[in-house]
Amino acid sequence: MSNIKSASDKNLLFGVAYDDFIDRMNQAAKEMGHEDVFFCHDKEANLIAMIAIHDKGLGAGQSMGATRLWPYTNQEHALKDVLRLSRGMTYKAACANIPVGGAKAVIIAKPEQKSERMLRAYGRFVESLEGRFITGQDVNISTEDVRVIRQETKHVVGVSEKCGGPVPMTAMGVVLGIKAAVKFRLHKENLNGLSVAIQGVGNIGKNLCQQLHEHGVKLFVTDTIKERAEEVKDLYGAIVVNSDEIYSLNVNVFAPCALGGILNSSTIPLIKAPIIAGAANNQLEDEQIHSKLLESKGILYCPDYVINAGGLINVYNEMIDTDEEHILKQVNNIYNTLLDIFKISEEEEINTHEAAKLLAEERIMKAKNFNKALHMPSLLLS
Ligand code: NAD
Repeated sequence: MSNIKSASDKNLLFGVAYDDFIDRMNQAAKEMGHEDVFFCHDKEANLIAMIAIHDKGLGAGQSMGATRLWPYTNQEHALKDVLRLSRGMTYKAACANIPVGGAKAVIIAKPEQKSERMLRAYGRFVESLEGRFITGQDVNISTEDVRVIRQETKHVVGVSEKCGGPVPMTAMGVVLGIKAAVKFRLHKENLNGLSVAIQGVGNIGKNLCQQLHEHGVKLFVTDTIKERAEEVKDLYGAIVVNSDEIYSLNVNVFAPCALGGILNSSTIPLIKAPIIAGAANNQLEDEQIHSKLLESKGILYCPDYVINAGGLINVYNEMIDTDEEHILKQVNNIYNTLLDIFKISEEEEINTHEAAKLLAEERIMKAKNFNKALHMPSLLLS
C-alpha cells in the first residue's frame, strides 16, 4: 500500500530505519481505512513529506487535500496528523457535496527552513502521483508557495483569485456556521451585539475578525504571535487576551482558528461559551471522548470539517472552472448543512460530531452504490 516515492538514501529517519517506518505507516493507514500513504525524503532539498489518501469518497479517482508545513518532533506525529486530516477531508467533501476523495499532505520542517528547492522537490513528489492527489495551501504554506510548487506539478489549486481564494471563503463559511449555531441555540437571526473569542488570527482568523466586525460582533482574540493579535486590535477593535484566557471567557461563541487537538480534557472544563464554531481542523483531541464531554456540558459543537469547508468548495470550483455565483451558493449551503446536523443530532439523540459523521457516511455509501450501479451492465439496461 505505501511507497517511498522518492528517497535519496535508505538510512535512518529520526533514528528509525526506513523499512520499519514504512511498515508502521502501512499498519496505521490500514487501521484507519486509508487507501494509500506515500512518503518522500529528499535529503538534498531538505524535504521530508507524507501524502495520505483516505478514501475516494464521492470522487472518482481524484483526492484533494491541502499541504501543511509543521515542525513535527518526529515522523510519528506527522503520520498521526496526516492520517487524521486526510480522513477529515473525506467527510468534509461528503458533507459539502464535493465529488472528490479526502487526502492531505504534511511537510516536516520549521517555517524558516522552507525554501524554493524544498517546495519544488515537494512539487515533484505531488507530480509523481499523476493527478491522483490535488493539493493547495494550509498552515505555513502561502499562495506564493503554491505558485512555486506549481512550477513542478499542475495538480495544485488555490492560486486563482476567483472569489478571493480559499481564505475568505473558509472564513465566510465559518460566519455562516456561527449564524446557524446562533439561530439554533440562541434563537437569534443575526450576530449584532454578540461576542466571539477567536483563537489564532492568521489567514483565516484575521479574515473572520473582519467579517464578524462587519456584523457588529464584539471580538476577543489571542495569537502566539503577538503582532497578529495587535493588528486585529487596531483594525477591528478586538480585545487581546492571553492564550490560556481564551477558553474561559464569557462569550457567546468560541472560534478555534489555530491548530488541532485544542478541545480536550484540560480545556473543555474551562469553556463557558455555549457554542464552538471555528475553522481549525481536528479540533477534538479524541473524537469519541471529547465530543461526548462537550455534549455533557451542553455546548453546541459545529463539526470542524463541516464549518470549514468553504476553502475546499472554492478550490474545487476553481479546478472545474465554475462561476462565482455557484461557489457562493455552495458556501451558503454550509448554513443549511449545519442546521440539518443539529436536527439529526436532536432527533437521533446523538452528539453533533456523530450526526455529521452519519450524514457524511450516508452520502459516501450512496455515491459508492451509485457508482457500482453505473458499472453493472444489467442495471444500465434496465
Ligand atoms: P495560519 O498559520 O495562517 O494561522 C494560524 C494562527 O494560529 C497563527 O497566527 C499562529 O500564530 C496561531 N496559533 C498557533 N497556535 C496557537 C495557540 N496555541 N494559541 C493561539 N494562537 C495560535 O493558518 P490558517 O490558514 O489561518 O488556518 C487556521 C486553521 O484553519 C488550521 O487548522 C487550518 O488547517 C484550518 N483551515 C484552513 C483553511 C485555509 O483555507 N487556510 C481551510 C480550512 C481549514
